[in-house]
Amino acid sequence: MAGKGAGDGDRTRVHRFTVGDLSCAVVSDGQLDPPWDPPLADFFSPASGVPEQELRDAVAEEGQGRATLTCGYNCLCVETPAGLAVIDTGLGRGFLGYGPDIAPLVGGFTGGLTEAGFPTSEPAAVVFTHLHEDHARGAVWSGEPSFPDAIPLAHAAEVAFWSDAACSAPPEQRRPAREAIRLFGERLRGFEYDAEILPHVHTVDAAGHTPGHSAFLLRSRGERLLCVGDTFYDRLQLAHLAWRTPWDLDAGRSVLSRRRLVERAADENLLVHAYHMPFPGLGRIERRGDRFGWRPVPPSSS
Ligand SMILES: [Zn+2]
Repeated sequence: MAGKGAGDGDRTRVHRFTVGDLSCAVVSDGQLDPPWDPPLADFFSPASGVPEQELRDAVAEEGQGRATLTCGYNCLCVETPAGLAVIDTGLGRGFLGYGPDIAPLVGGFTGGLTEAGFPTSEPAAVVFTHLHEDHARGAVWSGEPSFPDAIPLAHAAEVAFWSDAACSAPPEQRRPAREAIRLFGERLRGFEYDAEILPHVHTVDAAGHTPGHSAFLLRSRGERLLCVGDTFYDRLQLAHLAWRTPWDLDAGRSVLSRRRLVERAADENLLVHAYHMPFPGLGRIERRGDRFGWRPVPPSSS
């Protein structure tokens, strides 16, 4: 580390690619390598239904002996005929929620977007898989919308859930979600599943992680990409679809959604974008017996 902050150059990461006629990029908000490499046991714990021994066995079976999860924050950008759309916006700058050690590692999205080479770095739409702060804070971190011309879009049930005075989610999730909703104000639009919210961008039911958690299918000229948000965090979860995390608010429904989306991605050989997989979070899912595996695209060197 040269002591540079996120977005100052050394940590900005951009991966350009296309889906049919659509120009796309994954722009990293930060890639958490050491010193902040969260333990796998934080994600898959007895409290979230994964016994310690089952996690140890799964890691041993994988053969890599790792104990930590390489957590990416992969924001997906798509140039649609209606303008540039961004799907999820990272944690933003000055983030102290997980402790100061993470703050210099994230917040690179806005800088990365200007370097991504789109005709404009002013999105016409910011679309959210859900309103957890690691997806939405990047759009409001300064206390006002980071992209003032963009229309914010989230599932109607997601907005309703966090807005409800009786919302049952933990306060550390509720507070930033409500703050984002407040700052978006009247501009925030709710969508439903199975809708084309922008040209070539279709919503897909991924509920469970949160009540309005959404996947998105990009389609152009016979090519397709499925953006799955927080449907899974790690490749271990593809081999263990019933594993949930402490952040899956409706655990049963999250498992059903994970299975449905993972089976579809494998059976239809879809290019998959997974927000928290190592940068750029793109890959294909393949059946391995009665389990599933992750094949990164482009292939990872590790
Ligand atoms: Zn997340």
